[in-house]
Amino acid sequence: MTDCIYNFSAGPAVLPESVLQQASTDLHSLNDSGIGVLEHSHRSSEITEVFSQAKENCRNLADIPSDYEILFLQGGASSQFFMIPMNLLQSDKTADYINTGAWSQKAIKEASMISTVHIAGSSESSKFDCIPTQLTFSKKPQYVHFTSNNTIYGTQWQHLPQIPSESTLVCDASSDLFSRPINVASHGIIYAGAQKNLGPAGVTMVIIKNNLIDLGPTNIPTMLQYRTHVKANSMYNTPPVFCIYVVGLVLQWAIRFGGLIELQKYNEAKATMLYDFLDNSDFYTSPVKKDSRSMMNICFKTSSEALDAAFIAEARNKGLSGLKGHRSVGGMRASVYNAFPEEGVSELIEFMKSFEKSH
Ligand code: PMP
Repeated sequence: MTDCIYNFSAGPAVLPESVLQQASTDLHSLNDSGIGVLEHSHRSSEITEVFSQAKENCRNLADIPSDYEILFLQGGASSQFFMIPMNLLQSDKTADYINTGAWSQKAIKEASMISTVHIAGSSESSKFDCIPTQLTFSKKPQYVHFTSNNTIYGTQWQHLPQIPSESTLVCDASSDLFSRPINVASHGIIYAGAQKNLGPAGVTMVIIKNNLIDLGPTNIPTMLQYRTHVKANSMYNTPPVFCIYVVGLVLQWAIRFGGLIELQKYNEAKATMLYDFLDNSDFYTSPVKKDSRSMMNICFKTSSEALDAAFIAEARNKGLSGLKGHRSVGGMRASVYNAFPEEGVSELIEFMKSFEKSH
């Protein structure tokens, strides 16, 4: 075993070292209050300040227009799969979904329980190895839902889907939010579970345009109405204070890093290094079409499942952790989110070379 572990996990994932250090200090006393961040009431002035700082940093980092609200909700990105149609989709209307894999399919399943779903495009026939280019929309979709990065298959949209002008774009950005600049104004809702690029598991960020907040019926459970959380400033019930606090620290770190343009450059450099190596290898292959490759989750395989298993085990012994592909697809997956260091990618490539030699 080496001392330094590189964590390639798809999520929960690596966090910036400076964030972990600040958090460990604040566990004992937040801002010299004498009370640790885990122990403060969510109504205290300290935590109110943590929330407003996190929102302000988020707005600054991603240039979020003033007619959008930023919410910190619970229930994971998976709860947005039903909360979105419950609030936005009337029972006699249709929503269009683009199917790029397991996460899109889960979103489709939930929306289908509420009303009609039209599949505007899908890459299922080629085992989700690409982002679909042919999109056919229903007549007047209330919204169009897509998954900007498919965590399992390692595909990512390189541009926003072109949708009918009267419709609203809804994005599950769970595994690539704030990894590159994002045009918030082109969306109605952007949501993301925090546990990849934003912070710990347990909080979901929802960025929602003002004109969608009150669309939902008032006879659905109060916790499932966006208006509830907007009115209560994400404190309708006891919020996941610690998670939101860590998200705030990660956002500060991202601003210090140089913002989304610098993060994109860093992420591109890491991903290009690994894809270039894969493209020049006869031993490893990437199952994803070149024009659809994810900068966040890089999938690859050897020629056999047995060799893949040996690769994962030997890599783990060399301090390269979390490389096992999702159980539904097998192979390997290197998740290289914002906080993943470039040196870790170089180490992985060195290991890949030596593994190839010895096998
Ligand atoms: N969407 C995507 C793209 C994901 O990768 C995940 C989790 N890996 C989810 C949704 C579900 O997120 P959660 O576990 O927060 O419900």
